[in-house]
Amino acid sequence: MSHRRDGILDEKNLRAVRPSDERLKQGPVVMVECVERIPCNPCVAACSKGAISIEGDLNDSPAVDHALCDGCGICISACPGLAIFVVDMSREGEDATVMLPYEFRPLPDKGETVTTLDRAGEVIGEAKVLRVLDAKALDRTPIVSLEVPKSQAMDVRHFVRRETP
Ligand code: SF4
Ligand code: SF4
Repeated sequence: MSHRRDGILDEKNLRAVRPSDERLKQGPVVMVECVERIPCNPCVAACSKGAISIEGDLNDSPAVDHALCDGCGICISACPGLAIFVVDMSREGEDATVMLPYEFRPLPDKGETVTTLDRAGEVIGEAKVLRVLDAKALDRTPIVSLEVPKSQAMDVRHFVRRETP
């Protein structure tokens, strides 16, 4: 189904935003999953490395130079559309790291096991919370890093807590 009908990125959209396999092997890198034509650009200013740009029409989707991105994740917090993620497939072993925006409270704790969801909200499996970034300096959306199997790193885009204290 097209994302025009259900709002979920389709295969064509994903191919357009996915870093190359070669770049993915080199270290953490951004995936800007923003394909709607909307007048928005905080991601451009958020990236001090100049990896994200919107030339000309403000409604255009951002262009990303994955070679300039170091995977810092700052742009995740700046995006009002919750459309930016950082994936690290370069780790040794079977697991990858996915950094994602998370706007629910209370935030999860480091080390907590959460239930992972895909872009459609369907359950994928479970993940360990590696880091929670809620720094005042971000001033916007907290960022949560999850440890997920590499085979799921391109699909895990949200999570729910198993228990809320
Ligand atoms: S992750 Fe960091 S370097 Fe990469 S695009 Fe976002 S702000 Fe720029
Ligand atoms: S800030 Fe987010 S929603 Fe706005 S253009 Fe950038 S990626 Fe798209």
